[in-house]
Amino acid sequence: EKMQGRNGDEEKILVLVRLRPLSEKETARSEVSDWECINDSTILYRNSLQERSGLPTAYTFDRVFRGDCATREVYEEGIKDIALSVVTGINSTIFAYGQTSSGKTYTMNGITEYSVADIYDYIQRHEERAYVLKFSAIEIYNEVVRDLLSSENASLRILDDPERGTIIEKLTEETLRDKNHLKELLSICDALRQVGETSLNETSSRSHQILRLTIESSAREFLGKDNSTTLAASVNFVDLAGSERASQSLSVGQRLKEGCHINRSLLTLGTVIRKLSKGRQGHINYRDSKLTRILQHSLGGNARTAIICTLSPARSHVEQSRNTLLFASCAK
Ligand code: ADP
Ligand code: MG
Repeated sequence: EKMQGRNGDEEKILVLVRLRPLSEKETARSEVSDWECINDSTILYRNSLQERSGLPTAYTFDRVFRGDCATREVYEEGIKDIALSVVTGINSTIFAYGQTSSGKTYTMNGITEYSVADIYDYIQRHEERAYVLKFSAIEIYNEVVRDLLSSENASLRILDDPERGTIIEKLTEETLRDKNHLKELLSICDALRQVGETSLNETSSRSHQILRLTIESSAREFLGKDNSTTLAASVNFVDLAGSERASQSLSVGQRLKEGCHINRSLLTLGTVIRKLSKGRQGHINYRDSKLTRILQHSLGGNARTAIICTLSPARSHVEQSRNTLLFASCAK
C-alpha cells in the first residue's frame, strides 16, 4: 500500500476516480447510470440484479468525483500538489486510466493546463531562483515511441545513459519561452497525433501519450559559480490508451499485434503500480514495456504518483467500469 516518500515518509499513490456525466447521445438512446458517489470517497453501484450477483457494490478511494464536478475540483484535490512538486526537484507522474470515451483526454487536458499555469505562477513569485523549462511529448503506439513535436515520424530508441539515466534518443526537447509557447507546442502534438488516422479517437484509444515538463532551477546568487544548488525534475502527464485494450481480445493481424503491445504496456504498468503500492519489495519490472521504462524515474523511489481513473456512467459500460475500479483498487 505504501512506498518511501520524499522525506523517508511513506507515500501512497494518490488514486482518484472520476465519473463523467451521461453524454447527450447516451441520454438520447435512453442510457441510464447506476453509479452513485455516496460521499467524497465511496462510489456505489446500485442495480438490484447486480447486487444479487455477489459482485462488490461499494468501492472506496482517496476521492471520488461525481459527473457534475469540474476538472478544477479534481485538480485541487491532491493533483496540484503532486504536479507542483516538480519546482522543488521532485519527479512526478499523473495518469489518466479508463476505457475509451470515459473522459481521460478531457481530464488530462484540464489538469495539464492548470498545472502549467500554477507552475508559471510559482516561478514568477520565486525570483531568487532562475528557472529553465523544457517540454517534450511522445506517443507510444505498438511499443513504438514517436516524437509528437517532430513530423519525421521516426521510431525512437530508448537508451540507458550512465549519467542521465533513461533517455529517448533524438527526442525533441523545446526550451519554453513562455506559457503561450507551450500552448503552440501542445497544438502541434494534437495535430501529429492524428496523422494517418481517420479520427482522433481511433488513435488516442490505442496509444499512450506522455507530455513531459522538465524544470531546472538554480539560486541566482550562485549562478555560474557552482551547481550545488541546482534542482532538476520532471512532471509527466500521461493519457493512457483505452483500458478496454487490456482485456478485450482483438481480431487477427495488425489489430492483434496492436492489442498485444498495448496490453503489454498497460499490463506492465498494472504490475509495476501494484508492486509500488505494496511497498516496493523485490524486483520491479520497469523494463518489460516502453511506457514503464520511460517513466521509471518518475514512478516509485522519491517520485510522486497520481492516477485518475475515469468512468463512463452508462449501464452498457458497466463491465469496463468495474475493470477500471479493479485497477484503481490495486493501486491504492
Ligand atoms: P477518452 O479520452 O477517455 O476516450 P474523452 O476525454 O475524449 O474520453 O471524453 C469523451 C467525451 O466525453 C468527450 O466529448 C468529452 O468532451 C466528454 N467528457 C468527458 N468527461 C467529461 C466530463 N467530466 N464532463 C463533461 N464532458 C465530458
Ligand atoms: Mg482520449
